[in-house]
Amino acid sequence: MLNALSSKLPAISDPFLVWRECLKHIKDNVTLMTFNTWFIPIKPLELDGVTLKVQLPSQFFWEWIDEHFNTLITKTIRQVLGPEAKLAYLINEEASAPSELRPKQSIVQNKHIEKPRQKDFESHLNPRYTFDNFIKGEGNQLARAAALAISDNPGGTSFNPLFVYGGVGLGKTHLIHAAGNKILETYPERRAIYLSSDTFTVDFVEAIQSNKVNDFSGFYRSMDVLIIDDIQFLIGKEKTQDLFFHVFNTLHQSRKQIILSSDKPPKELRGLDERLISRFQWGLTADIQPPELETRLAILKRKSDDYGMTISIEILEYIANNITSNIRELEGCLIKLLASASLNSVNIDLDLTKKIVKEIATDRKVNITIETITKIVCSYLNITEDKIRDKSRKKEIVLARQIAMYLSKELTRSSLKSIGLQFGGRDHSTVIHAHNTIEDAMSKDPSMISLVKTLKTQIEILSS
Ligand code: ADP
Ligand code: MG
Repeated sequence: MLNALSSKLPAISDPFLVWRECLKHIKDNVTLMTFNTWFIPIKPLELDGVTLKVQLPSQFFWEWIDEHFNTLITKTIRQVLGPEAKLAYLINEEASAPSELRPKQSIVQNKHIEKPRQKDFESHLNPRYTFDNFIKGEGNQLARAAALAISDNPGGTSFNPLFVYGGVGLGKTHLIHAAGNKILETYPERRAIYLSSDTFTVDFVEAIQSNKVNDFSGFYRSMDVLIIDDIQFLIGKEKTQDLFFHVFNTLHQSRKQIILSSDKPPKELRGLDERLISRFQWGLTADIQPPELETRLAILKRKSDDYGMTISIEILEYIANNITSNIRELEGCLIKLLASASLNSVNIDLDLTKKIVKEIATDRKVNITIETITKIVCSYLNITEDKIRDKSRKKEIVLARQIAMYLSKELTRSSLKSIGLQFGGRDHSTVIHAHNTIEDAMSKDPSMISLVKTLKTQIEILSS
């Protein structure tokens, strides 16, 4: 077989054709995900006798390939080019590790100018979230400046990781997307990906089930920019945290940019691995505070212009004075006004505005469901969802159930009866009892207040 192939060899002298031939063999021997992650990004450069020179996107890439696919690659290239054939790697220096980390002399270094290239994965960056439409205010000044700085020089500043935290609807997701978008605008060749820590966890569980943990971890380690939103959802997920810890280390060591967001600062992420908490503090931690009146007005002005609405300053001020702690709601209010006015062919006046501001307060409750509450409480307190609904009298399960009932009464418009039914067919007096018990516990124990607050925030995030 080998000889038969080798005898045909002189016909192939173009590096692209040789590599294409190699890819055909490789594809039959690895999973599709492995193929897309590790082989598609390899670029053939030139053929020097029986040595095929290819370019790899980073040092880490090379190490991974060398460790996992060396045998396969050697075998393949020999099949295609003959028994003496070799592959020589060149690493894209721009995007790779400091030179002292580079092992083995077999690597020739070369500098290449970055140019756009079809990526083998989705970055999941939303192009609508940019710095241009992110209004600057006192509350987001530091976070914005830091995000801009790392966008100019990803991985090259001491802001690594950049850790942005703050309450719901204050612009964390917008800002970290803006950073990712700007990086790709300047460095289109970089491998940047955005995802929430929830998605990371779900994908990880799938990777475990399908025996592809190595591919999964390798994929994230191959990134130049890793953006993870709502990192607090890793709490209680020990295995995912452990894997993320290793991904974090690999990326940080090779000066890849890591951007994280959370609802609270690292040291308050109780239940998260201490090693992660300490690493999160290596770079820059920047908070986003609720916008002051002037910023709220500026946001309303900008958004209403964007929607092509002309709204009097009196109305904008009414909104800004009544919706104070969530930018998503400011935006929602304008959209509702616009919809309502055009649907009913009426003008946007103060009465309509008042009505809509009131509806928004009510909506806060409508969006939250008992399922979401159950999901968050169970995941945070590390118990399964069926336990909370069954008859268990175990102390920690009773407590979780009472907290979930308390939150359901506080955050939804469900009746006591319906809440009771959804927690294993209990009656309304059980719900009242649970509510009183938790209120009582909060009045005596500050840690209960903080637990309930944390859960509330997470529920709000998941429901918004
Ligand atoms: P978070 O992730 O903190 O919950 P988001 O980033 O989802 O908040 O922001 C909620 C909404 O408010 C988004 O539509 C976003 O575009 C908008 N927004 C937040 N901050 C700003 C800002 N400073 N300027 C303009 N729009 C903003
Ligand atoms: Mg968000």
